[in-house]
Amino acid sequence: MININEYTLKELEEYIENLEEKKFHAKQIFKWLHKEQVESFDDMTDISKSLREKLKKQCEIVKLQVIEVQKSKDGTHKFLLSLSDSNAIESVFMKYNHGNTICVSTQVGCKMGCKFCASTKEGYKRNLLASEIEGQIVAIEKYMKEKISNVVYMGIGEPLDNYDNVVKSIRQINNPMGLGIGARHISLSTSGIVPNIYKLADEKIQATLSISLHATTDKKRKEIMPITNKYGTKELLEACRYYIMQTGRRISFEYALIHGVNDSKNDAIELAKLLRGMIAHVNLIPVNEIKEKEYTKSKEESIKQFMTTLNSMGIITTVRRELGKDIDAACGQLRQRYLK
Ligand code: SF4
Repeated sequence: MININEYTLKELEEYIENLEEKKFHAKQIFKWLHKEQVESFDDMTDISKSLREKLKKQCEIVKLQVIEVQKSKDGTHKFLLSLSDSNAIESVFMKYNHGNTICVSTQVGCKMGCKFCASTKEGYKRNLLASEIEGQIVAIEKYMKEKISNVVYMGIGEPLDNYDNVVKSIRQINNPMGLGIGARHISLSTSGIVPNIYKLADEKIQATLSISLHATTDKKRKEIMPITNKYGTKELLEACRYYIMQTGRRISFEYALIHGVNDSKNDAIELAKLLRGMIAHVNLIPVNEIKEKEYTKSKEESIKQFMTTLNSMGIITTVRRELGKDIDAACGQLRQRYLK
């Protein structure tokens, strides 16, 4: 069976023409699938019965199922969703002043091995399809009965390790005939797959790029993020400069503060020096404590000192609000518990 949600509008037009039907039906079907989010071809009321029957014979509308939801007092909802092959992924719904935000997964598991992350522990299984990335938004909008206006690609998986499907999903959810979420409301976070940062820059999508930096020297970064063995920090920052030049967009640097590892005043000074002259923003993340790992959260004074040092050196810095403190909010923790 064809997963019809995977078709772009152009692909859908070709498919409909191959069925010897009029091309304009593709637009109607695309809207039913991506805007109205119908779960049955019979709900496509302006499509003839004969075309609906043809679609039913060849295509399926694939939906993600909610397995478990953890609700936090602050409104954060963490979802465990099942895919059609029974793999499970996580997505998080968060309420911010600037609108409802969803953090989506891009892979089942992850290969990157970042030391502070639970998602990597069970290894990598497969890439998500574009329709499975979009499907997370659809499933959660339905469950919450609320519209989502911002999407962050920061859940399980390395988005740029699933490049084609991730870029396709951005274009699909950005399509005004579908969910219509503006590219400027979409952020993508990478651990630093340098060649694909260049590729993304050339796509000219107006999405915000976030870099999971977390350390300022190759030596320290290698300890936390093994990807640094392949692409060094200097190379990574050069790719960032190229991204800014091509898109005119500010880059957000994510920096997880880990007690005694990367949270000294000197680390902050080195970070400010690295980012000097870039249109950049630093987002400090007090790292979630992971039972299985030895890392612990920075002390309040260290977080304050780190932020003040960066701000005094001209780097715009914020500390990420800790949402979902009372649930398994760290990426991968809910799925891991489920797998066990
Ligand atoms: S932080 Fe992201 S890239 Fe690193 S292991 Fe976790 S999911 Fe993968």
